[in-house]
Amino acid sequence: MTESAVFGARPQSQAEADRWTCPHGRHATQGCVTCYQAGAGADATSPVWEVAVWFTSARPIPIRALHDVHRHGHHFSLDQPSTPLIFLLTGQVRAAQGVEAVAGLVGFLVQNRHIVDEFTVTEVRAVHSLTG
Ligand SMILES: [Zn+2]
Repeated sequence: MTESAVFGARPQSQAEADRWTCPHGRHATQGCVTCYQAGAGADATSPVWEVAVWFTSARPIPIRALHDVHRHGHHFSLDQPSTPLIFLLTGQVRAAQGVEAVAGLVGFLVQNRHIVDEFTVTEVRAVHSLTG
């Protein structure tokens, strides 16, 4: 069984906006530190999500900070595809729903402002992992 959720940059209806709001009232693309912490402490029965978040940064992110992500998030990695100032954050997150997994992964960025201080999420994918 595979569930997936994709958020694009196109305008959203209210129903879509609701669907992308985590239980703490944060839009997933803004990130939620509570979801991030919940994911870090989630028990082994929660589903695992493979999450990918594309975002733009107001400033370049130093290579050292990109590598630093591995140390802070156990299964996270931050890459810079070919386009300048566009970054891809990927990771495995435990959460009941995809929206919480996305809010949690973006919440990692919110909590680690030394990595990126100003960012805008442009696209998101969350796929329910079979290996959970
Ligand atoms: Zn939340």
